[in-house]
Amino acid sequence: MAHHRPHLVLLPSLGIGHLMPLLGLATRLAAKGFTISLVLASHQISVAQHRLLSSGLDIRILELDLKLELNTNSNTNPNVLASLVAQSQTILRSPFENLLHRMFDDGGLDGLPPPLCIITDFFLGWTVEFAAKFGVPRINIECCPPHAMNLVESLWTILPRNLERSDSGRYIVPGQGNNLTLLSASEMTSGMVEADASHPKHLFFKTLLAINQKGSWATILNTFQELESDHIDQFQSRCAGPVRAVGPLLPLPGARRLSDCPELEWLDGRPAGSVVYVSFGSENSITCAEMNELALGLESSMKPFLWVLRPPTDAGSDALGELLPQGLRARTEHRGQIVMGWTDQLAVLSHPAIGAFLTHCGWNSLLEGISCGVPFICWPINAEQPFNAKFIEEEAKCGLRIWKGASRDEIRRVIKSVLDDEDEAGKAVRRNAIRWKEMAEGAVCEGGSSAKNLDSLVADILALQRRKEKPIALG
Ligand code: UDP
Repeated sequence: MAHHRPHLVLLPSLGIGHLMPLLGLATRLAAKGFTISLVLASHQISVAQHRLLSSGLDIRILELDLKLELNTNSNTNPNVLASLVAQSQTILRSPFENLLHRMFDDGGLDGLPPPLCIITDFFLGWTVEFAAKFGVPRINIECCPPHAMNLVESLWTILPRNLERSDSGRYIVPGQGNNLTLLSASEMTSGMVEADASHPKHLFFKTLLAINQKGSWATILNTFQELESDHIDQFQSRCAGPVRAVGPLLPLPGARRLSDCPELEWLDGRPAGSVVYVSFGSENSITCAEMNELALGLESSMKPFLWVLRPPTDAGSDALGELLPQGLRARTEHRGQIVMGWTDQLAVLSHPAIGAFLTHCGWNSLLEGISCGVPFICWPINAEQPFNAKFIEEEAKCGLRIWKGASRDEIRRVIKSVLDDEDEAGKAVRRNAIRWKEMAEGAVCEGGSSAKNLDSLVADILALQRRKEKPIALG
């Protein structure tokens, strides 16, 4: 039987953090009646299958045959681009181009009509060229939030060394109109303050930003209007095509698998809002010394904790548990749960026992915490994470930061502040966390800002089918 649904092809960069918003987007677009071809590398497939319930939604996973170098720790050398991002510039190209040939040239793949457009993330700016070659538009899905992308752009293109400083020595970062951001050196990514025009990231971001801004037919943001309205406006002012904030891009409730991870059972036995969930995401980690301070800070806070342990940056993954302070596991057995490597984070955050999320401030993690009404303890590591931490503490006001090099006492203080009933700072961040959860729900429900923006995006894509528009010319 002929296939009549409009078809879209989605390709993420190789990181798990890049995959997550694309999965959320795939479910939303499939629910609107599109057939989705989700093009993935092998290591992304089980994560995608776990998050997506494919029945009922027309999402097909297509695996690319890649020669990947995995097992990388992106923060071992912060001055080079994270390895998966770097590999996304090269090894995806040829297999993806071959796949597009099969979709466009050979009478379609599996009887599907050719895709109406190609949706890929910021780090895959090279797909603009491919989209033009096949005569369809390319849509950029931005995995980083606009507040951070605005800073990334200013800082990596102008460079901090060329910025004026305030009386207190902070860097004055220009924004839109009179909106300036003041940043101290400790609020930037490592290497940024000293960088000059020969720094690889200066050229990398300058080029990539220009391609994305000029060559994308539209940009999808994984955020919502109420959370960062001014930042979205500033972001839009630099883009040729429309910018649509459609987040938080979490899986639709009806398109999620129910989790059977054992941590949930452990959480069932804990009082509501009592547990600190600790995770540094899918790629990042801390050093052995930091791990030691964190473990002792958690212990002395006397709060229950669930910690997803990843190999430290300066030690191997063998005998990971033995890197913890001696006797810690026995001493915290009754209230501490340590998980090796991975948990179903969204299911964990949705559990009522979770009272705080100690996070590296990856944007997916933050949006997941926001959507669950969980306040944050921010421990940023690299990339745009320091900007996210600043945003959460100073603008969204739903978390507190732990600064680099914090001692166990300082870590204990911040944990207790966020969780203790009587703590004034804690009360404020908990109140704001609930407020953002309600706003996030409002944004994605019918008539909400993200739902309307998604409708506009869908209308634009469907109009392509009718008008056979040409993609905008490459700048
Ligand atoms: N994640 C998870 N289980 C883990 C660690 C991470 O499910 O044990 C998911 C998390 O829910 C989020 C993503 O992996 O969706 C991590 O993305 P984020 O942007 O927070 O950080 P990144 O890993 O890209 O640095």
